[in-house]
Amino acid sequence: MPSNDNSVALMLPPDEAVAAVAPKKVGFVSLGCPKNLVDSEVMMGLLAQGGAQITARAEDADIIVVNTCSFIDTAKQESVDTILEMAQHKTSGKAQKLIVAGCLVERYRNEIQKNIPEVDAVVGTGELQQILSAAGIAPAPANGGPFVILNSRSEGDAREAAGRFSKDGWDGAIADLPNYLYDENTPRLLATPKYSAYIKIAEGCDHPCSFCIIPQLRGKFRSRRFESVIAEAQQLAKQGVREVTLIGQDTTCYGEDLGLKDGLALLLERLAQIEELRWVRFLYAYPNKITGKLIETIAANEKICSYIDVPLQHASPAVLKNMKRGAGAGIFMKSIEKMRHAIPDLTLRTSFIVGFPGETTEDFTILCDFVREAQFDWLGVFGYSDEEGAQAFALEEKVAPREIERRRKKLMSIQKQISRTKKRALIGKQFDLVLEGPSEETELLWQARAAMHAPEIDGTVYVNDFGDHENVREGEFYRCEITEAHDYDLVARIL
Ligand code: SF4
Repeated sequence: MPSNDNSVALMLPPDEAVAAVAPKKVGFVSLGCPKNLVDSEVMMGLLAQGGAQITARAEDADIIVVNTCSFIDTAKQESVDTILEMAQHKTSGKAQKLIVAGCLVERYRNEIQKNIPEVDAVVGTGELQQILSAAGIAPAPANGGPFVILNSRSEGDAREAAGRFSKDGWDGAIADLPNYLYDENTPRLLATPKYSAYIKIAEGCDHPCSFCIIPQLRGKFRSRRFESVIAEAQQLAKQGVREVTLIGQDTTCYGEDLGLKDGLALLLERLAQIEELRWVRFLYAYPNKITGKLIETIAANEKICSYIDVPLQHASPAVLKNMKRGAGAGIFMKSIEKMRHAIPDLTLRTSFIVGFPGETTEDFTILCDFVREAQFDWLGVFGYSDEEGAQAFALEEKVAPREIERRRKKLMSIQKQISRTKKRALIGKQFDLVLEGPSEETELLWQARAAMHAPEIDGTVYVNDFGDHENVREGEFYRCEITEAHDYDLVARIL
């Protein structure tokens, strides 16, 4: 009997000997939003715990995973293009397996496997742990907490009964709704810089927005346990994370399924007590869920960034009614004034959809006027994308694609002027900035963010004067003064 592992390996035929000692290398491409990125991080964590080695180079990988997005047409196209690009590593490179994961799988499970024969396995959003069997890796003995969460809200149950989550007619889709949620014990490999991490606090969505298929892709709204989120944040803080960004399809519903009132506010309050953390923020508020308690909590805690991202989608009451969201410019303005009154240094981000079916020139004018009045700090504009499976797909009076693009550009040009004026008003003001590293264009400039910039979403601050600091460090915070302003970006010097 051989006395050490090497001799066992040497007794095997050559190929198996290599397989026995060399870990499988897995390359990951993560597309789409930060919520998808967290899913990728969990899958990478599970694979690494199972003994795989994660590589950033697709050409070195034995297995390539593409975690896809299928929110709108352009995202689907990007996903398909990426799958085809990665498939080439199987035909002409080292890769032996191609796995497709994520939202595209929930929507087009059968088509992917039928039309792209290079794809060896698919993993939906609700079955992340299946990445191990798809990759041919045995699960580690304890691979991460309960995978299934059974909370639900009465709204979600009622919408389910009304057919909101139905995938009838989706070829090959798994009828069961995803109910997966990771927890603090799930292995997770951060793909973000080591000082900043996302925490997914909830998954799924119960809202009825008629343009959106996310609820069918991600399932009913469900929250992670309060203490699980806190425990994960504490672990991340111990690892060196200084900025935590809470995400979910709708973070402002956090805790409703757990019987918590003002769950998000309570969570933020507790997270702000973690000593090592400098910035805590949340993304994607639903307009009528921004409570007085939430506003008070942001205003009262220095560590909670004075930053609210509330996708309003439109301002015309008629369009919002057809979108199944309700409200309108007048109600939104009151709510914005209330937020700005309570949080004077508030940074407000929103996004709109232009060209929704039936959107008239008057509706679009209402939206433009509202954007001029509301003076958002950051604004995203999407052209309406007609998604099969969304209720709006059946609506008539579709707006022509060229007109959608014209309206998108027009709204962005209005915002550009607003942004320029707002950014100029920051010249001479002082902020704490986190340094992100040398800029991609030149090593003489470093990129940075203030609390007004969510990671990867908003503009950038370029630092061109380092004051007395001979060495500055990525991930460290410095007091800075803004010296120049452009349409969206700023220039600063370290004090
Ligand atoms: S709230 Fe957001 S994720 Fe939920 S249905 Fe509406 S647009 Fe989709």
